[in-house]
Amino acid sequence: MPQEVFSICFMCTIRCPIRVEVENDEVKWIEGNPHVPGIEGALCAKGSAGIALLNDTERPQYPMIRVGARGAGEWRRATWEEALDYTAGKLKDIISRFGPQSVVLGERTNLNTHISKTFMRAIGSPNYFSHDALCKGSVNTAFRTLTGYTDAQVGVDYANCKHIVLYGRNIFESLEIKAINNLLTAMDKGAKLTYIDPRVTITASKADRYWMIRPGTDLALNYALMHVILKEGLHDKVYVRRWVKGLKDLE
Ligand code: SF4
Repeated sequence: MPQEVFSICFMCTIRCPIRVEVENDEVKWIEGNPHVPGIEGALCAKGSAGIALLNDTERPQYPMIRVGARGAGEWRRATWEEALDYTAGKLKDIISRFGPQSVVLGERTNLNTHISKTFMRAIGSPNYFSHDALCKGSVNTAFRTLTGYTDAQVGVDYANCKHIVLYGRNIFESLEIKAINNLLTAMDKGAKLTYIDPRVTITASKADRYWMIRPGTDLALNYALMHVILKEGLHDKVYVRRWVKGLKDLE
């Protein structure tokens, strides 16, 4: 009889809630958590591939040390102790010759990121980086600037929107199960979808209105939208009075 385990998908940063069936310590089935509104059993293709990732024999299964020329594909198996000592020896050598700042650590941000950062501080290098500047970090910075909160703290109530404008946000191909289900619910209730992107994507094919702007002209489009909205007084004045600073300067 399979055991039911509720967990979180780690195949991307969205972290969808999942329901997993496990038998004899082996994962047999993964699906979206049927009890979570918006998810209701759904999972993207990448999330469903979680079992393949677990059983992928082509991924390194243990530490290996290169013994041939770079690119020759010649490796030998090592124990964790040997691999750690080997790495520590190399790091010590580099630091003694070039200083601690010559060591750079780049990684995909994860739950252990604080350990990586602490390690870098301990060896005396400030050179830590992740992909955040191009991804969630910049989204959060923009959200904080606009609202004082991160986007995760605010959330978007797609299901109850009347008109959704997606600006370069190819949501139907970007793995957000809950958001997509809620957006489809809104569209079923009659919400309109406007999509702006130089590329004709799946999201473009589902939109009521699609603006295929030329690459690099988004700023011009923004100025044009702002101009028309302000000139014709189309904005929500009560909201703006309460939440927006500097509108007079903009006008
Ligand atoms: S969007 Fe897909 S890959 Fe990402 S957490 Fe959800 S199920 Fe997993």
